Amino acid sequence: MPINTMTDELLWRETALCAQAGPEFFFPAPGSSTREAKQLCNACEGRVACLEYALAHDERFGVWGGMSEKERDRLRRSRSARG
Ligand code: SF4
Repeated sequence: MPINTMTDELLWRETALCAQAGPEFFFPAPGSSTREAKQLCNACEGRVACLEYALAHDERFGVWGGMSEKERDRLRRSRSARG
C-alpha cells in the first residue's frame, strides 16, 4: 500500500483543475477578469476544500475555490460577524 504523504487538508490538490492552467490564469493582474478561472473552479471537484483551505490560511491573492480575493474577504467577514 503506497504511503500517502499528503495530509487530508491537501488531498483536494490531487484533482485540482488549475494544475493544468498557468498561474496567470488564477493570479490575474489587477483589474483583469477572473471569470474564466472561476468557471474552471466550478467544474473542480475539490472546490469547497480549496476554498476552505484558502480561508483557513488567509490566502490574500488570486482565485481559490471559485472566489476572488474580495469575495473571500466578504465571506470571511460575514462568517466572523455570525460568530
Ligand atoms: S477550485 Fe479552482 S483554484 Fe481550487 S483547486 Fe480547483 S481549479 Fe484550482
